[in-house]
Amino acid sequence: MGDQPLDVTDPPLTRRELRRREEVARAPQPAPEAIPEQPPPPAPIPAAAPFPGPRSSPSGRVPQWAIDEAAGRPVQDTAWRSPSRPLYDWQATRDVPAAAAYVPPAVRRRSPAKRFFRALGRAIGDFFGGLWNLIKFLILSAIFTAAIWNALTYLAPGFTSETGRLLASHGISSPALNPVAPPYSGAKPQGAGSADGKAPPSGVEESDHHLGTPAPVPGSSNSYAFMGKGTDQPFISYDPCRPIHYVVRPTNAPADSAKIIAEAVSSVSRATGFVFINDGPTDEAPSTDRPAYQPQRYGNRWAPVLFAWETQAEQPMFTDNLIPGSKTTLGLGGSMAVTVDGKDAAYVTGQVRLNAAALGTMSYGTDGYATVAAAVKHELGHVVGLDHVADPTQLMAPSMSGQVHDFGSGDLTGLAMLGNGKCRPNV
Ligand SMILES: [Zn+2]
Repeated sequence: MGDQPLDVTDPPLTRRELRRREEVARAPQPAPEAIPEQPPPPAPIPAAAPFPGPRSSPSGRVPQWAIDEAAGRPVQDTAWRSPSRPLYDWQATRDVPAAAAYVPPAVRRRSPAKRFFRALGRAIGDFFGGLWNLIKFLILSAIFTAAIWNALTYLAPGFTSETGRLLASHGISSPALNPVAPPYSGAKPQGAGSADGKAPPSGVEESDHHLGTPAPVPGSSNSYAFMGKGTDQPFISYDPCRPIHYVVRPTNAPADSAKIIAEAVSSVSRATGFVFINDGPTDEAPSTDRPAYQPQRYGNRWAPVLFAWETQAEQPMFTDNLIPGSKTTLGLGGSMAVTVDGKDAAYVTGQVRLNAAALGTMSYGTDGYATVAAAVKHELGHVVGLDHVADPTQLMAPSMSGQVHDFGSGDLTGLAMLGNGKCRPNV
């Protein structure tokens, strides 16, 4: 190949060389023992033979190399004489005219382009080799982490329940969880339902004063937001002058669920001054189309707030994926508002829909009770009118931090405002 030294065979003997050899043969011979051993014929370079003087051309000129040779100086190389010269190399060919006085270095030289592409090839090879190792490492790490995490979920659920994950969303697209158009219009006489049968009589259990007083808020905070804006106050709320009834569907409930719900209810009651009445268990299933008025099931009044533990079959959002980094919706909460003649917006009923599988798993952790209770309180906060806030120190933050298990000062400020709303005798 071009990088290998070429074997340069000497040219056939010229007439001049033959004549020169005859002259040498005629010249007086030194003692035979003084003649160095000659290589076997055809000896290409008889340079070791003694010469009477510098060799010359037939025209009488003496080449420089012959003078150097005779004087014992190192003979300057020439291009064709150089066995290490890569004659087929384009660069060497280009350099031939200048090479007479140039001794090529013994090191192999590659063209800059060749060196560049070889370096590039090595770099690409190193990069993809490293990348593949990184991918293998990440895949193995993910498998290992998932295996450890799943094992911990069953062996030590308290550890896994402490990490942050999405606590709840309030179902923007769900009509049952949001204020809706009034189901009736026009003033209703006390004690009579709406003409179309969609609303109970106005003012059932209505009092002429607030039933309770919100507890004083420790500290002050602006970290609160409301689900809806009222017609005559900056929020939509339940009527504070009548009790809020609630029922519980106990199916699929985790351990201590009754106690957890009772605690959440009393926590919201303290913060708002609302009076809650437990109407006991129900078999009603939660639904996005839940009617606000169900006289056959609940009598001639607004339907009570419904607490229900739902499976994933009932609510596809309720997965049981507790792998860190994934999002699991633990609950949905909201209420339905009505207005009378476009005024007096008020919530009349709502739903707290809880992820039975995920909360059931989390309830076995060391902090399981507090975690499940926090989820229920958060959803009940939505029901009475609180929206999410970005502040992670509040219970109404959109994601569960694992450390916040109770309403913060912002949450409590908003709850107190909701409880201090106007009486709604027309609803
Ligand atoms: Zn929420």
